[in-house]
Amino acid sequence: PLVTRFAPSPTGHLHLGNARTALLNFLAARGSGGQFILRVEDTDEARSSEEFMRELFQDLRWLGLEWDEGPDVGGPHVAYRQQQRRQIYEDWLAKLDAAGLTYPCFCTPAELNIARKQQLAAGKPPRYAGTCRVLTEEQRAERLVSGKPAALRFRVPNGQVVSFVDVVHGEQRFSTDDIGDFIIRRADGSTAFFFSNAIDDALMGITLVLRGDDHLTNTPRQMLILQSLELPVPRYAHVALLLGMDGSPLSKRHGDLSLRDLRRRGYLPSALRNHLVRLGHTCVSDGWLDDAAMRAEFDLSRLGRAAAKFDEAQLKHWQKEAVARLSTDDFLVWISAQMPTGVATAQLGKFAEAIRHNIEFPGDAKLWVDVVFGELPALPAEALTVIREAGADFFVTTQSVFAQIAGEFRQIAKEIGQRTGRKGPGLYMPLRAALTGVLHGPELGPLLALLSSQEITKRLEQARQ
Ligand code: GLU
Repeated sequence: PLVTRFAPSPTGHLHLGNARTALLNFLAARGSGGQFILRVEDTDEARSSEEFMRELFQDLRWLGLEWDEGPDVGGPHVAYRQQQRRQIYEDWLAKLDAAGLTYPCFCTPAELNIARKQQLAAGKPPRYAGTCRVLTEEQRAERLVSGKPAALRFRVPNGQVVSFVDVVHGEQRFSTDDIGDFIIRRADGSTAFFFSNAIDDALMGITLVLRGDDHLTNTPRQMLILQSLELPVPRYAHVALLLGMDGSPLSKRHGDLSLRDLRRRGYLPSALRNHLVRLGHTCVSDGWLDDAAMRAEFDLSRLGRAAAKFDEAQLKHWQKEAVARLSTDDFLVWISAQMPTGVATAQLGKFAEAIRHNIEFPGDAKLWVDVVFGELPALPAEALTVIREAGADFFVTTQSVFAQIAGEFRQIAKEIGQRTGRKGPGLYMPLRAALTGVLHGPELGPLLALLSSQEITKRLEQARQ
């Protein structure tokens, strides 16, 4: 069983890329009978907010991902918000310190900037030059006493190779000579991502870290910390970043690809799951996957390296599949904002079944609500043309057939066809135009079953004029 986690920073709305990472972690845990943990990485207090955190919980739950441990559900590794784990980080920092693996750094941002430029100009990788690494004890003490703000850096050993086998990218080797001493605690006292993230993974018993491959080069740094502290190192799987339709990595700029927004636009969570599970992860089946099937399909060996692109056409395809699978009650709840009040319960169910195959988003129901429960709107020109072509006689005949046969629409239509010599579109189009005002739409029979005979008469009479 795998223990996985999703570790978002609550600094914005959850976008599809993060949602995909969360889903894959969820599936890895569930598919293996393991645990899925939610950890909120809010060490950056200025940019994190309670509001974003609450939204995060809502969005993840809406997507259908439940976590076994997390800030709001608790668990054996309390706390699950990094702001509440400061003491834990301090304790582990103290251990690193005792091992002689840290040193305070007094370089200012401006100094660091200049140094970085010099490194680049000299054709070297822009790693920390080690200015404060070589300070003498006296120099350090002097600066500390003077109250100069100090960050804490990790002393990266020279001449070593950090290697690991990434689940997606295979064997990775990094020379520590290319890794500058990096900051593990900022001058403001907050711990840096490299540190708190790695410590938490180890302490929370995470066995698989599945995250975006923008973190691939962070991994050797994190492994160095864990190895120095003799903490367990998880397996790593770095999945290809999710790109927007424009080919650039998803970010806050793609505001419309936040989970919130897609939800507001009427997308169903099961549709999103079916799209997301195929981004950066290949499925054997190209058909609809329900929860159990999705768990069974998920396989670490099918995670891909190639960048995956969000594809709205694909998502719409899954949306159709998802709508078709809603129960009648769920469908009605979904379109409830469009529904008039006072419709009889029996009618509601029939209405849902009559229109559901023509509905992609809840707003699409409005047209059919008007057609069935409202007055027929002014007919568009194309409907009028069809009606005129059929002629008044056609509607006189139609009206008498409706009056004589109280059966199914199929029978009624057959009879009209026989009496008027029309068939196929020549028969159905004028009926559609006159009775619904729309030339394309759901099957006519179930729609007309919702109309009273007076209403049908009224619409046919209008068509005769
Ligand atoms: N808070 C980090 C992020 O959102 C977590 C990265 C990780 O999964 O390790 O990028």
